[in-house]
Amino acid sequence: MKKIGFIGLGNMGFFMSKNLSLNNYIVSGYDVNQSVFQKLKKFKINQVSSLSKLSNENDIIITMLPNSVIVEEVWTEILDNVRQNTLIVDCSTIDIETSKKLHNIAKTKNISSLDAPVSGGTIGAENGTLTFMVGGDNETYKQIMPLFEVMGNKSILCGPAGSGQATKMCNNLLLAITMSGLGEAIKLANSQALDMEKFYQVLSTSTGSCWALNNYCPIKNIGPTSPADNNFKPGFSSELMLKDLSLALDAADHNNLNLYLGKKILGNYEKLVGNQKGHLDFSNIINYTE
Ligand code: NAD
Repeated sequence: MKKIGFIGLGNMGFFMSKNLSLNNYIVSGYDVNQSVFQKLKKFKINQVSSLSKLSNENDIIITMLPNSVIVEEVWTEILDNVRQNTLIVDCSTIDIETSKKLHNIAKTKNISSLDAPVSGGTIGAENGTLTFMVGGDNETYKQIMPLFEVMGNKSILCGPAGSGQATKMCNNLLLAITMSGLGEAIKLANSQALDMEKFYQVLSTSTGSCWALNNYCPIKNIGPTSPADNNFKPGFSSELMLKDLSLALDAADHNNLNLYLGKKILGNYEKLVGNQKGHLDFSNIINYTE
């Protein structure tokens, strides 16, 4: 059985590593926040004291970290310490250029790597139902696929290095826009004193239906259970959505593209986060439409 080193055991990494361990993989973990191991110990996840030790003792290394700067720092140390034939997979959401740069550095050292950001949130991580959007070569993808099948229920090799991050950017740009658009429709519905249950019943099966409405309805006590039913406790935080939207707009700038709708709603997400609401679910944006 392959030995797995998991770095970043926060909201997502905690459940992903736990699911691997429950499926009989030998998992070691490293996190700057030592307290995460209190709960992980009972799932047989072995705490490793340093990044270099973890990098040197495992066959597959997975990172699930907050942002590009941290991923680059951590990957630099991993790449200085891994054995040949180690596979490295980054499941964090980071910018496309950093992702490609790290793949290139790995390649110069003959280390195989994938970018594999996820969709599905903490619920998907807990239930092992994440979707993995993968960038890299087919041979490496096939080797890691069994792990994706434990942590998720779908993985797609989207293309060469960086394609997973690029796909994730497109997905979250669209989600940020649809949730904002839904906020405008709700605003109009409220102004007409519409019955929101009937509004939901009609729109969720009409041409206006979308994932944001049908699965994550941001109106309290309407539709399936969602963060709106629980004072917008996330879920997927507004801070993370602002990060992803900014990454999408930066990627567009880099390619001289004008993403009109994305730019328009960025200000609303900035206002939401600036208003000390960044920790709450991103669907709270329905209260910040302009
Ligand atoms: P988190 O902040 O809960 O977890 C990150 C973990 O990394 C923390 O435990 C932190 O202590 C650790 N860490 C930070 N710096 C480190 C370092 N230098 N070395 C080792 N560990 C370090 O974040 P999360 O919600 O688990 O998200 C992780 C990634 O997944 C992010 O890139 C995020 O955008 C992406 N993502 C999150 C969700 C979600 O719903 N939370 C959904 C999809 C994708």
